[in-house]
Amino acid sequence: MQVIERAEEMQRRSEELRLSGKTLAFVPTMGFFHEGHLELMRVAGKHADVVLISIFVNPTQFGPSEDFEAYPRDMEGDLSKAREVGVDVAFTPSVEEMYPEGSETTVAVGKLTKHLCALSRPSHFEGVTTVVAKLFNITKPHIAVFGQKDYQQLTVIAKMVKDLNMDIQIVGVPTYREPDGLAMSSRNSYLNAEERKSALSLKKSMDLASGMFEQGERDAGKVKAGIEKLILNHPYTKIDYISLCHPVTLEDVDVLEDEALLALAVRVGRTRLIDNCLLGKRARGS
Ligand code: AMP
Repeated sequence: MQVIERAEEMQRRSEELRLSGKTLAFVPTMGFFHEGHLELMRVAGKHADVVLISIFVNPTQFGPSEDFEAYPRDMEGDLSKAREVGVDVAFTPSVEEMYPEGSETTVAVGKLTKHLCALSRPSHFEGVTTVVAKLFNITKPHIAVFGQKDYQQLTVIAKMVKDLNMDIQIVGVPTYREPDGLAMSSRNSYLNAEERKSALSLKKSMDLASGMFEQGERDAGKVKAGIEKLILNHPYTKIDYISLCHPVTLEDVDVLEDEALLALAVRVGRTRLIDNCLLGKRARGS
Protein backbone atom coordinates (compact mmCIF):
# COMPACT_ATOMS: atom_id res chain seq x y z
CA MET A 1 0.00 0.00 0.00
CA GLN A 2 1.29 3.39 -0.98
CA VAL A 3 1.00 6.27 1.53
CA ILE A 4 0.89 9.76 0.04
CA GLU A 5 0.91 13.01 2.03
CA ARG A 6 1.06 15.65 -0.72
CA ALA A 7 -1.99 16.64 -2.79
CA GLU A 8 -0.03 17.11 -6.02
CA GLU A 9 1.56 13.68 -5.72
CA MET A 10 -1.84 12.11 -5.07
CA GLN A 11 -3.27 13.84 -8.15
CA ARG A 12 -0.38 12.57 -10.28
CA ARG A 13 -0.83 9.00 -8.98
CA SER A 14 -4.57 9.01 -9.61
CA GLU A 15 -4.05 10.40 -13.10
CA GLU A 16 -1.53 7.63 -13.88
CA LEU A 17 -3.95 4.99 -12.62
CA ARG A 18 -6.79 6.43 -14.70
CA LEU A 19 -4.63 6.64 -17.82
CA SER A 20 -3.66 2.99 -17.37
CA GLY A 21 -7.36 2.15 -17.64
CA LYS A 22 -8.05 1.40 -13.97
CA THR A 23 -11.29 2.34 -12.18
CA LEU A 24 -10.82 4.09 -8.83
CA ALA A 25 -13.02 3.83 -5.72
CA PHE A 26 -12.44 6.28 -2.86
CA VAL A 27 -13.33 6.12 0.84
CA PRO A 28 -12.82 9.39 2.76
CA THR A 29 -12.38 8.95 6.53
CA MET A 30 -11.22 10.70 9.67
CA GLY A 31 -9.37 7.56 10.78
CA PHE A 32 -9.40 5.58 14.05
CA PHE A 33 -10.76 2.65 12.10
CA HIS A 34 -13.43 0.22 13.22
CA GLU A 35 -15.16 -2.53 11.23
CA GLY A 36 -17.61 -0.01 9.70
CA HIS A 37 -14.74 1.84 8.02
CA LEU A 38 -13.16 -1.44 6.86
CA GLU A 39 -16.49 -2.58 5.42
CA LEU A 40 -16.60 0.60 3.29
CA MET A 41 -13.13 -0.27 1.96
CA ARG A 42 -14.21 -3.85 1.16
CA VAL A 43 -17.28 -2.54 -0.68
CA ALA A 44 -15.03 -0.07 -2.57
CA GLY A 45 -12.88 -3.03 -3.66
CA LYS A 46 -15.93 -4.76 -5.15
CA HIS A 47 -16.76 -1.68 -7.23
CA ALA A 48 -13.38 -0.79 -8.77
CA ASP A 49 -9.85 -1.96 -9.64
CA VAL A 50 -8.10 0.37 -7.19
CA VAL A 51 -9.12 1.40 -3.64
CA LEU A 52 -8.01 4.82 -2.41
CA ILE A 53 -8.71 6.08 1.11
CA SER A 54 -8.00 9.32 2.91
CA ILE A 55 -7.30 9.76 6.60
CA PHE A 56 -7.79 13.38 7.59
CA VAL A 57 -9.38 14.84 10.72
CA ASN A 58 -10.92 17.88 9.06
CA PRO A 59 -10.87 20.94 11.36
CA THR A 60 -13.44 22.90 9.35
CA GLN A 61 -16.28 20.47 10.12
CA PHE A 62 -15.84 20.85 13.89
CA GLY A 63 -17.48 23.76 15.73
CA PRO A 64 -15.40 25.94 18.07
CA SER A 65 -16.48 24.05 21.20
CA GLU A 66 -16.33 20.58 19.61
CA ASP A 67 -13.82 17.74 19.91
CA PHE A 68 -11.33 18.44 17.07
CA GLU A 69 -8.26 18.31 19.34
CA ALA A 70 -9.53 15.33 21.35
CA TYR A 71 -10.75 13.35 18.32
CA PRO A 72 -9.09 9.88 18.54
CA ARG A 73 -6.18 9.27 16.17
CA ASP A 74 -4.09 6.16 15.41
CA MET A 75 -2.30 6.61 12.08
CA GLU A 76 -0.03 3.55 12.36
CA GLY A 77 -2.87 1.23 13.43
CA ASP A 78 -5.12 2.60 10.68
CA LEU A 79 -2.51 2.08 7.97
CA SER A 80 -1.96 -1.53 8.98
CA LYS A 81 -5.73 -2.24 9.05
CA ALA A 82 -6.14 -0.60 5.63
CA ARG A 83 -3.26 -2.69 4.27
CA GLU A 84 -4.96 -5.85 5.56
CA VAL A 85 -8.22 -5.14 3.73
CA GLY A 86 -6.38 -4.51 0.47
CA VAL A 87 -6.35 -0.71 0.17
CA ASP A 88 -3.97 0.38 -2.60
CA VAL A 89 -3.31 4.03 -1.75
CA ALA A 90 -3.81 6.00 1.49
CA PHE A 91 -3.82 9.79 1.23
CA THR A 92 -2.83 11.25 4.62
CA PRO A 93 -2.42 15.02 4.27
CA SER A 94 -1.65 17.51 7.03
CA VAL A 95 -4.02 20.38 7.83
CA GLU A 96 -1.56 22.79 6.13
CA GLU A 97 -1.56 20.65 2.99
CA MET A 98 -5.36 20.74 2.76
CA TYR A 99 -5.78 24.37 3.82
CA PRO A 100 -2.69 26.32 2.80
CA GLU A 101 -2.61 29.94 3.90
CA GLY A 102 -4.96 32.08 1.85
CA SER A 103 -7.34 29.24 1.03
CA GLU A 104 -10.84 30.76 1.14
CA THR A 105 -13.21 28.91 -1.21
CA THR A 106 -16.00 26.79 0.24
CA VAL A 107 -18.78 24.57 -1.11
CA ALA A 108 -22.24 24.88 0.44
CA VAL A 109 -25.30 22.75 -0.30
CA GLY A 110 -28.73 24.36 0.27
CA LYS A 111 -31.80 23.26 2.21
CA LEU A 112 -30.60 19.74 3.07
CA THR A 113 -27.95 21.25 5.32
CA LYS A 114 -30.47 23.18 7.39
CA HIS A 115 -32.10 20.22 9.15
CA LEU A 116 -31.14 17.57 11.72
CA CYS A 117 -27.46 17.85 12.71
CA ALA A 118 -27.21 21.39 11.31
CA LEU A 119 -29.43 22.67 14.15
CA SER A 120 -26.71 22.07 16.73
CA ARG A 121 -23.75 22.06 14.30
CA PRO A 122 -24.51 25.02 11.99
CA SER A 123 -21.21 25.12 10.07
CA HIS A 124 -20.59 21.35 10.00
CA PHE A 125 -21.87 20.48 6.53
CA GLU A 126 -20.08 23.32 4.77
CA GLY A 127 -16.88 21.92 6.28
CA VAL A 128 -17.79 18.43 5.07
CA THR A 129 -18.77 19.39 1.51
CA THR A 130 -15.73 21.62 1.10
CA VAL A 131 -13.27 18.97 2.23
CA VAL A 132 -14.98 16.19 0.27
CA ALA A 133 -15.02 18.33 -2.91
CA LYS A 134 -11.29 18.98 -2.43
CA LEU A 135 -10.61 15.29 -1.77
CA PHE A 136 -12.55 14.35 -4.92
CA ASN A 137 -10.41 16.78 -6.96
CA ILE A 138 -7.25 15.35 -5.43
CA THR A 139 -8.06 11.63 -5.70
CA LYS A 140 -10.13 11.78 -8.94
CA PRO A 141 -12.28 8.71 -8.18
CA HIS A 142 -14.93 7.13 -10.41
CA ILE A 143 -16.80 5.92 -7.31
CA ALA A 144 -16.92 7.19 -3.70
CA VAL A 145 -18.23 5.15 -0.78
CA PHE A 146 -19.98 6.58 2.32
CA GLY A 147 -21.74 5.07 5.34
CA GLN A 148 -25.50 5.30 5.86
CA LYS A 149 -24.79 5.85 9.55
CA ASP A 150 -24.17 9.48 8.56
CA TYR A 151 -27.40 9.56 6.54
CA GLN A 152 -27.59 13.34 6.24
CA GLN A 153 -23.94 13.52 5.16
CA LEU A 154 -24.54 10.88 2.48
CA THR A 155 -27.63 12.77 1.23
CA VAL A 156 -25.78 16.10 1.19
CA ILE A 157 -22.77 14.65 -0.69
CA ALA A 158 -25.06 13.02 -3.27
CA LYS A 159 -26.78 16.41 -3.76
CA MET A 160 -23.43 18.22 -4.15
CA VAL A 161 -22.30 15.68 -6.75
CA LYS A 162 -25.57 16.05 -8.68
CA ASP A 163 -25.76 19.85 -8.51
CA LEU A 164 -22.10 20.40 -9.43
CA ASN A 165 -22.09 17.74 -12.21
CA MET A 166 -19.27 15.82 -10.54
CA ASP A 167 -18.72 12.65 -12.55
CA ILE A 168 -18.62 10.36 -9.51
CA GLN A 169 -20.95 7.53 -8.49
CA ILE A 170 -21.87 7.69 -4.80
CA VAL A 171 -22.37 4.35 -3.04
CA GLY A 172 -24.01 4.10 0.42
CA VAL A 173 -23.19 1.22 2.80
CA PRO A 174 -25.53 0.04 5.61
CA THR A 175 -24.53 0.84 9.18
CA TYR A 176 -22.16 -1.64 10.78
CA ARG A 177 -23.11 -2.43 14.41
CA GLU A 178 -21.65 -3.98 17.55
CA PRO A 179 -23.27 -7.35 18.45
CA ASP A 180 -25.69 -5.56 20.84
CA GLY A 181 -26.77 -3.09 18.15
CA LEU A 182 -24.73 0.03 18.94
CA ALA A 183 -23.64 1.66 15.68
CA MET A 184 -19.85 1.56 15.40
CA SER A 185 -18.27 4.99 15.70
CA SER A 186 -14.81 6.32 16.44
CA ARG A 187 -16.48 8.39 19.18
CA ASN A 188 -17.65 5.24 21.03
CA SER A 189 -14.12 5.20 22.49
CA TYR A 190 -15.14 8.20 24.65
CA LEU A 191 -17.84 6.17 26.48
CA ASN A 192 -17.22 4.73 29.95
CA ALA A 193 -18.92 1.46 30.95
CA GLU A 194 -22.08 3.12 32.33
CA GLU A 195 -22.41 5.45 29.34
CA ARG A 196 -21.90 2.51 26.99
CA LYS A 197 -25.09 0.95 28.44
CA SER A 198 -27.04 4.19 27.95
CA ALA A 199 -25.72 4.46 24.39
CA LEU A 200 -27.89 1.45 23.53
CA SER A 201 -30.96 3.70 23.94
CA LEU A 202 -30.48 4.82 20.31
CA LYS A 203 -30.85 1.31 18.89
CA LYS A 204 -33.68 0.57 21.33
CA SER A 205 -35.45 3.72 20.09
CA MET A 206 -35.20 2.56 16.52
CA ASP A 207 -36.59 -0.87 17.45
CA LEU A 208 -39.45 0.82 19.33
CA ALA A 209 -40.27 3.09 16.38
CA SER A 210 -40.10 0.22 13.88
CA GLY A 211 -42.45 -1.83 16.08
CA MET A 212 -44.94 1.04 16.45
CA PHE A 213 -44.83 1.70 12.70
CA GLU A 214 -45.36 -1.98 11.84
CA GLN A 215 -48.36 -2.05 14.18
CA GLY A 216 -49.93 0.80 12.22
CA GLU A 217 -48.99 3.89 14.25
CA ARG A 218 -48.79 6.85 11.85
CA ASP A 219 -48.74 9.78 14.28
CA ALA A 220 -45.12 11.03 14.32
CA GLY A 221 -45.75 12.89 17.59
CA LYS A 222 -46.74 9.68 19.38
CA VAL A 223 -43.70 7.80 18.10
CA LYS A 224 -41.42 10.67 19.17
CA ALA A 225 -43.00 10.79 22.62
CA GLY A 226 -42.37 7.05 23.07
CA ILE A 227 -38.72 7.46 22.01
CA GLU A 228 -38.19 10.49 24.24
CA LYS A 229 -39.45 8.58 27.27
CA LEU A 230 -37.28 5.57 26.44
CA ILE A 231 -34.10 7.63 25.99
CA LEU A 232 -34.59 9.75 29.11
CA ASN A 233 -35.06 6.56 31.16
CA HIS A 234 -31.36 5.93 30.52
CA PRO A 235 -28.90 7.82 32.75
CA TYR A 236 -26.46 10.43 31.32
CA THR A 237 -28.58 11.02 28.20
CA LYS A 238 -29.56 14.38 26.74
CA ILE A 239 -31.58 14.50 23.53
CA ASP A 240 -30.19 16.71 20.78
CA TYR A 241 -32.95 15.79 18.31
CA ILE A 242 -35.46 13.09 17.46
CA SER A 243 -36.61 13.56 13.90
CA LEU A 244 -39.15 11.70 11.84
CA CYS A 245 -38.62 13.09 8.41
CA HIS A 246 -38.89 12.56 4.68
CA PRO A 247 -35.97 10.31 3.60
CA VAL A 248 -35.11 12.51 0.61
CA THR A 249 -35.84 16.11 1.69
CA LEU A 250 -35.12 15.47 5.41
CA GLU A 251 -38.08 17.72 6.27
CA ASP A 252 -39.98 16.76 9.41
CA VAL A 253 -43.31 15.01 8.90
CA ASP A 254 -46.33 14.91 11.24
CA VAL A 255 -47.92 11.88 9.63
CA LEU A 256 -45.85 8.84 8.69
CA GLU A 257 -46.52 7.80 5.09
CA ASP A 258 -45.23 4.68 3.31
CA GLU A 259 -41.71 5.52 4.25
CA ALA A 260 -39.98 7.81 6.76
CA LEU A 261 -36.53 8.30 8.21
CA LEU A 262 -36.01 8.23 11.96
CA ALA A 263 -32.85 10.19 12.77
CA LEU A 264 -31.51 10.59 16.30
CA ALA A 265 -28.76 12.58 17.97
CA VAL A 266 -28.25 11.97 21.67
CA ARG A 267 -25.55 13.15 24.03
CA VAL A 268 -24.43 10.39 26.37
CA GLY A 269 -22.20 12.08 28.92
CA ARG A 270 -19.95 14.29 26.80
CA THR A 271 -20.26 12.11 23.70
CA ARG A 272 -22.68 13.03 20.92
CA LEU A 273 -23.98 9.91 19.14
CA ILE A 274 -26.10 9.72 16.00
CA ASP A 275 -28.04 6.89 14.41
CA ASN A 276 -30.91 6.43 11.97
CA CYS A 277 -33.19 3.91 10.34
CA LEU A 278 -35.82 3.84 7.66
CA LEU A 279 -39.38 2.96 8.59
CA GLY A 280 -41.59 1.38 5.97
CA LYS A 281 -41.11 -0.02 2.50
CA ARG A 282 -37.32 -0.06 2.11
CA ALA A 283 -36.78 -1.09 5.75
CA ARG A 284 -38.75 -4.25 5.00
CA GLY A 285 -36.75 -4.73 1.80
CA SER A 286 -39.85 -4.47 -0.43
P1 AMP B 1 -15.64 9.06 9.80
O1 AMP B 1 -14.23 8.57 9.87
O2 AMP B 1 -16.40 8.91 11.06
O3 AMP B 1 -15.74 10.43 9.16
O4 AMP B 1 -16.37 8.10 8.79
C1 AMP B 1 -15.85 7.80 7.52
C2 AMP B 1 -16.90 7.05 6.73
O5 AMP B 1 -17.25 5.85 7.43
C3 AMP B 1 -18.21 7.83 6.56
O6 AMP B 1 -18.72 7.61 5.25
C4 AMP B 1 -19.10 7.22 7.61
O7 AMP B 1 -20.48 7.32 7.28
C5 AMP B 1 -18.64 5.79 7.57
N1 AMP B 1 -19.00 5.09 8.81
C6 AMP B 1 -18.74 5.48 10.08
N2 AMP B 1 -19.27 4.60 10.97
C7 AMP B 1 -19.87 3.64 10.24
C8 AMP B 1 -20.61 2.44 10.56
N3 AMP B 1 -20.82 2.08 11.81
N4 AMP B 1 -21.10 1.70 9.54
C9 AMP B 1 -20.89 2.06 8.25
N5 AMP B 1 -20.20 3.17 7.87
C10 AMP B 1 -19.70 3.95 8.85
